[in-house]
Amino acid sequence: MSDAFTPFGKATEISSGLLYTPVHTPATAAHEQVVYFKDEKTSLQAIIAIHDTTFGPSLGGARMWPYPNLEAALDDVLRLSKGMTYKAAISGLNQGGGKAVIIGDSRTDKSEELFRAFGRCVDFLAGQYITAEDVGMDEENMAWVHQETPHVTGLPKHLGGSGDPSPFTALGVYVSMKASMQYATGQDSLEGKKIAIQGAGHVASYLAKHLQKEGAILYISDIYPEKAEQLAAEVGAEILAPEHILSHRVDILSPCALGGVINDETLDRLACDFIVGGANNILREEVHGQRLKERSILYAPDYVVNAGGIINISNEIGGYNPERATEQTREIYHTLLEVFYYAKTHNLTPNLASNQLVEQRLANAQK
Ligand code: NAD
Repeated sequence: MSDAFTPFGKATEISSGLLYTPVHTPATAAHEQVVYFKDEKTSLQAIIAIHDTTFGPSLGGARMWPYPNLEAALDDVLRLSKGMTYKAAISGLNQGGGKAVIIGDSRTDKSEELFRAFGRCVDFLAGQYITAEDVGMDEENMAWVHQETPHVTGLPKHLGGSGDPSPFTALGVYVSMKASMQYATGQDSLEGKKIAIQGAGHVASYLAKHLQKEGAILYISDIYPEKAEQLAAEVGAEILAPEHILSHRVDILSPCALGGVINDETLDRLACDFIVGGANNILREEVHGQRLKERSILYAPDYVVNAGGIINISNEIGGYNPERATEQTREIYHTLLEVFYYAKTHNLTPNLASNQLVEQRLANAQK
């Protein structure tokens, strides 16, 4: 072992050319462990952030993204890993929150050597961080990571994994729509309800099929017209232009594309009674939850609604069982109702109510 210096300070060489640097900045204070890894042979640069392991080893995807600098990568991994703690805790999983970022362009920088080096980083943390797929990664990359460490989920089915998590995420969004309807009207049927889905990707496609079966009236948009056309044809939906999907008069708006869609610019244009979507970080800021409440729009907090994916991959730990994963995903219905009733009792917005429930659970468990 030898010492070296990285932008975050003194590094230790943990295997030939692989440097380990603990990161301590004011921003990392709320995290249990944050580590910067640099591999001299493959030029891998990755940061792994473990936010909280109160309920179990931290679980969260690895994101490959061409961050402009290390500060941006650190900022992202800290925010995302904290989000994973909240998502796992509200879902009642025995998992903590963690996340990894790999600095690089997923279109040009991928190689088996790079992902095997990343696997050695994950392995060095000895199971305190369990990795999975996220933006820029695919099942094949996870299989390479798996060659160096057992602490991987989201593997292809032929390697004992659970494959694509989107069907589970979509099931969670679907039952969340029913729970929202139940809470507001006393009936959870979606038959004849007008539902606008933003995005026609993986989650949206599975979601639309559940909704079609139940007799909902569907509107779909995607920035790629061919994707919207294909899904609309499959489920008998009307296509809307991307710039009209948020303002179309519907019962439920379901953002299933990007985050931050509810913001100062879009809020006044909304023409729905409910927002229940699969996207992460639907509210640009927490305060937008208050603005939705003022407009009498019921907002189902995104990390409660879209937890089906993590519920599914958490089921890979200790032997994958799709029936158990499905049953646990359906439980999101009751979790969301609990959040809505807590919000009502304590006069909070649903997003703040959900945060508070998680923070109480963590505080109780840490006593
Ligand atoms: P995806 O890439 O398959 O689909 C996203 C779709 O949105 C794409 O077709 C894209 O063209 C479209 N899109 C982008 N911007 C748009 C816009 N402004 N208007 C309309 N369409 C637009 O992704 P996905 O796996 O379906 O995930 C969708 C969202 O759900 C993402 O925010 C993701 O982070 C979140 N999420 C996904 C999962 C999962 O299991 N896949 C789990 C949790 C959260």
